[in-house]
Amino acid sequence: LNRRLAGFGTTIFAEMSALALSTGAINLGQGFPDTDGPEEVREAAVRALRDGRGNQYPPGPGVPELRTAVAAHQERRYGLAYDPATEVLVTAGATEAIAASLLALLEPGDEVVALEPYYDSYAACIAMAGGTRVPVTLRPHEETVDGTVHRRFRLDLDELRDAITDRTRLLLINTPHNPSGTVLTREELTVIAGLAVERDLLVVTDEVYEHLVFDGAEHVPLASLPGMRERTVTIGSAGKTFSFTGWKVGWVTAAPELVTAVRSAKQYLTYVASGPFQYAVAEALALPDAYFEAFRADMLAKRDLLSAGLTEAGFGVFRPAGTYFVTTDIRPLGESDGFAFCRALPERAGVVAVPNAVFYDDREAGAPFVRFAFCKRTPVLEEAVSRLKALA
Ligand code: PMP
Ligand code: GLN
Repeated sequence: LNRRLAGFGTTIFAEMSALALSTGAINLGQGFPDTDGPEEVREAAVRALRDGRGNQYPPGPGVPELRTAVAAHQERRYGLAYDPATEVLVTAGATEAIAASLLALLEPGDEVVALEPYYDSYAACIAMAGGTRVPVTLRPHEETVDGTVHRRFRLDLDELRDAITDRTRLLLINTPHNPSGTVLTREELTVIAGLAVERDLLVVTDEVYEHLVFDGAEHVPLASLPGMRERTVTIGSAGKTFSFTGWKVGWVTAAPELVTAVRSAKQYLTYVASGPFQYAVAEALALPDAYFEAFRADMLAKRDLLSAGLTEAGFGVFRPAGTYFVTTDIRPLGESDGFAFCRALPERAGVVAVPNAVFYDDREAGAPFVRFAFCKRTPVLEEAVSRLKALA
């Protein structure tokens, strides 16, 4: 392994899913649903396969049907108009979109300001691109509303401002945020946008959980704020929105020069991917609003079930405003090392979780936090909760 990738051995998701398999524990580690997405979308994939659509290399930027559907989705949800011919690029999942964006846009030595904790591939891809990551840590924050204590992770906008230097090329944003569940507010995003304009920065924004926002939180695409459309690469994924993580269909929307740049990198990574699935996802994106609303409501009920169960089991719970992850504090259980806790948890309780420390440069700051995924069937979550309660 070369020096750029030193320290990036095996992703925590592979490690923890292997642990779940070998121990038979309930896997609330890696974020994938245990129920596949809509039947009609699976049928659409079968039809594409049968009709011979996408069985050979699809066009480099993605099949026109999907590019059109992605543009129509951005327009319908957010009023953001993108030209399917020049401003949309289909990728092999959001993972490739992240890699291609960073490889295309960074010069060696450029600094990337990224929220910490960060999704693990950000750090590896910044390193592969020869960039330097500059984390801005989301800090635990407590507020009391109507007598109830709410914990969440909050971005300190002054820290963000201070992290930007003359070497900063790019801001890497993620909202709704994995693993914290934080949804950046319009006010916070407006400050971020102002900084990007003032310092003339590019922004890559990972919005794969755009449809999973709760409690009246609103997903605001950064590209929709003044001055941002021309400098923002927005990333989406069918894996998250339609519960087909194995299909690896993602996309980028951005101004033509940015899409061209990202595509230059993308064509030498995979060239193209997911032929027949691209046609199916085009149909999925056109599903009526009722689909997206039902998906959100389902995940909301699961969030509440798991959050309540974890609270009863003695964890400190950061109620997520978005995503399908809940981050907990294990200190109330008398624990302080999330790594050790997660390695022992299958044995102790028959459940797998992920230590948030892997998403931090400042491992100390992340040490007491552990993430659970709630994109699982209700009986599975109930069983996990009853096992975790036995920990106390
Ligand atoms: N970004 C974030 C924040 C994620 O949680 C994930 C994991 N699903 C991805 C990107 C990768 O998405 P995909 O599976 O489409 O590659
Ligand atoms: N995004 C998923 C998570 O955060 C996992 C994706 C992966 O395994 N790389 O759990």
